[in-house]
Amino acid sequence: MTKVEDTQNTNQETGMKNPKEFESAIRPEKNQAFQVIRHGNVKFEHPHPNVYVARILIANASWVKTTEGTVLIDTLIGPAVAKKMFDKIHETSGPVKYIIYTHGHMDHVGGANVFTEDSPEIIAQRYIMERFEKYRILAEHRARIGRIQFNLPFLESRGPSFVNPTRLYDESMTFTLGDKTFELYHARAETDDHTWVFVPEIRAAFVGDLIVAGYPNVGNPFKPTRFALSWARALEAVREKEPEMVVAHGGHAVYQGDEAREILDVNIEAIKVIHDQVVEYINKDIPVDEMIQMVKLPDHLKDHRYLRFVYSRPEFAVYNIYRWYHGYFDHNPAHLLPRPEKEVNEEVFQLIGDGEAILKRAGDLLEQGQAQLALQILDILLKHSPEDTGARKLHLKILEVLHEEDYCLMSRNTWVYFMERDKEILGIKD
Ligand SMILES: [Zn+2]
Repeated sequence: MTKVEDTQNTNQETGMKNPKEFESAIRPEKNQAFQVIRHGNVKFEHPHPNVYVARILIANASWVKTTEGTVLIDTLIGPAVAKKMFDKIHETSGPVKYIIYTHGHMDHVGGANVFTEDSPEIIAQRYIMERFEKYRILAEHRARIGRIQFNLPFLESRGPSFVNPTRLYDESMTFTLGDKTFELYHARAETDDHTWVFVPEIRAAFVGDLIVAGYPNVGNPFKPTRFALSWARALEAVREKEPEMVVAHGGHAVYQGDEAREILDVNIEAIKVIHDQVVEYINKDIPVDEMIQMVKLPDHLKDHRYLRFVYSRPEFAVYNIYRWYHGYFDHNPAHLLPRPEKEVNEEVFQLIGDGEAILKRAGDLLEQGQAQLALQILDILLKHSPEDTGARKLHLKILEVLHEEDYCLMSRNTWVYFMERDKEILGIKD
């Protein structure tokens, strides 16, 4: 049985036990983006006498109490929330002897500096160091995409605040502390530096972002490729341990007994079924822009309560898996060494020679329920005349239609970001 403890507020947004409840709790209003990076609210769960989970909206961290101190798995997104967790750990379990990073994403490593006074050993998979380096050299780019994906203000680099691991491993490692054993396994999954942890004495698996609230984050339009097949295999390896408890990330955190088996089964199948279709279509030489319309989840998975498209979605997974297996060249010689799109676009625009015709056609397509096609046709005019007020207004209208029923964070927040840019250009104030 799971005990939920509220820390210091009555905000229910992170207190949801049911994934659908969670989804509706964070569902944004019209014209609004998802806001998942909030500091301050931390919920604690105590699903087992020796296991605690700290939850914020986007991520969790967990700790295991042993007879000789605490092993902390992940550190939340930053010092403010990590400090609350630090206090709770010291109140319930004693000093932190080890920190395990499940991977180098900010919402897992960002709170580590709060724990330095405990002088823990910090363990991570070896590739995390390249990840931290990447974050430093791409700080400006990452601030830009964070602004779109998470609706954030343009943030300065956070790279220097990372706390480096004190110990790196390659494939796997095991250590013991007091009465518990910690088995660490490397996986290429959402990242190339992922670690999942199994504690045999309590049959608990801590899987990091191998499992999140909703459809697995196998594809992200802003980020490098994820690793679909090895991800599914990592989850199969977790399943082989027959865990009685799976601690995952994002909203619903703790799955026990039959729930643990089910969450593993459906995530494995959801990744494999998309992966296998992409492989089949690559072998049939289907272009990726056709593939994203063709690849489908089977009916028993597409409405599954554990696989809602709240963060990622299958189309993003298709692009991602395609990129993992396929180079950029789509076997059309026009695309081997192309001229810039704006140059080709200008030729097409001059051939049409009539911005009004493009505007009308895009408007008609929107009326006919083809918002995406309308967006692409309108682009021919907008690339030629970015300041055209009529075109900009229609652009905004199309994005408003696209965002309306879209509750997948990454696509919705993208529509909303560009709606806000259109409003700025048009001088519209909310
Ligand atoms: Zn992650």
